[in-house]
Amino acid sequence: MKVFLRVFFFFLFVLIVIIAFNVITFKSKQIKNIKPLDALEIPPQAVERFSSLIKQATVSKSTDFDSLAFKAQDSLLQNFYPLISKRLERKTINEFSLVYKWKGKDSNLKPILLIGHLDVVPIASQDLALWENPPFSGLVKDGVIWGRGTLDDKINVVGALEAVSMLLEEEFVPARDIYLAFGHDEEIGGIKGAKAIAQYFKDQGLSFEYVLDEGLVILEEALKGLNKPLAMIGVAEKGFTTLELKVNLKEGGHSAMPPKETAIGLLCNAINRLQTKQFPAKIDGAAKGLFSYAGPEMNLLYKSLFANLWLTKRLVKNQLLNDPTAASLVRTTTAPTIFNSGLKENVMPSEATAKINFRIIPGESIESVLKRVKKIINQPLIKVSLLEDFSSNPSKISSTESFGYRVLQRTVQQIFPEVIISPGLVIAATDARHYEEVSDNIYRFTPIVIDRSDLKGIHGNNEHISVDNFENALRFYKQLLINSCQ
Ligand SMILES: [Zn+2]
Repeated sequence: MKVFLRVFFFFLFVLIVIIAFNVITFKSKQIKNIKPLDALEIPPQAVERFSSLIKQATVSKSTDFDSLAFKAQDSLLQNFYPLISKRLERKTINEFSLVYKWKGKDSNLKPILLIGHLDVVPIASQDLALWENPPFSGLVKDGVIWGRGTLDDKINVVGALEAVSMLLEEEFVPARDIYLAFGHDEEIGGIKGAKAIAQYFKDQGLSFEYVLDEGLVILEEALKGLNKPLAMIGVAEKGFTTLELKVNLKEGGHSAMPPKETAIGLLCNAINRLQTKQFPAKIDGAAKGLFSYAGPEMNLLYKSLFANLWLTKRLVKNQLLNDPTAASLVRTTTAPTIFNSGLKENVMPSEATAKINFRIIPGESIESVLKRVKKIINQPLIKVSLLEDFSSNPSKISSTESFGYRVLQRTVQQIFPEVIISPGLVIAATDARHYEEVSDNIYRFTPIVIDRSDLKGIHGNNEHISVDNFENALRFYKQLLINSCQ
């Protein structure tokens, strides 16, 4: 017994030493000794210009495209930024998408590309009454700018344009070529906008040092155990696909004598199997990056957990899977969104269909999702098919060692000195995915500090941005361009 206890305490001691060693060597990945910049003066008319652009209802819909709203917005852009019109080359793609080229000193340096989108999502008529201020009012009140597009995504478009305009005023000449590209149909897939723009760049033989699109933000109270806001730079985005499940029995029968197997029963069973046997959680790729950057900045308990994933992986995964937001970062999600069957309460339907939407993590694919779903359902009476129109594979994962990532990290630390920076995974689709063929380094980040309740405004009600956030976003873009040209 004594020997057993000795061995036990020996192993316990070794375990504690390993855990402590991993915590001590779990070093911060934040850049040290970066001086915060003094807040730069923002042109007083910038807020007014932004507000005027928010008033333009450039809503993306598959039908009834409102070309007048896009044209009105375009003429405002040209009026607001005369120096850009004068000094940058401008090209329209598919009539409404915009590309600007600002020629730099050295054409041997790879150019950079800032992207955003000019369209916004519609507001359902029943939601209009829920807005504190009308969505296209562009109202500026008590330090807040209200309206659809203030977060998604006119802030990124205007941020880049105001920054270029400020630098032109100062007669700044970039060291490398700078491109801006704004699509007009991101919210409905980006085919006529971003996809066509990327093709145009490809035809020109262009390859960008890095591309920056909208994406993750600086989130307050982002993670348990982290008491500073977290700036997540999206290094990848999830793919998505929708599968249709269909049962077609030869006959339904009478509801007074229901058969053993029914169409609704079979389909429900299949969906239930999919929900019970979820895709596995994986702490790799973008999720691993997030914890390796945020982990060293957390309190001791969480730091110990993330420094010792070899031991705590199971525990950490279970914790993450308990919260739907965190779960979406570590696994392919399964969402039954449509179910159709039956016409009359006393007639057994012979047919039932359902649509299940999947958001796919990097490392998996549309193909692998389809294969796994078929295997889990394992029911020959259910036909599983892919709705190709709405499918996209997950993006590649961009490096955190590239020039682009380092410049972004440095710029965030200069403008927002109080935050922690980490790579992250974008769970929604962005235009950035269309640019994979013209750059290896694609990042998705919107330079604003907000909390989870503000995030609800994106595609939701009461979208708004504070004037402080607006001005800091402009400062961020300006500094980013300066830093990218050194
Ligand atoms: Zn957007």
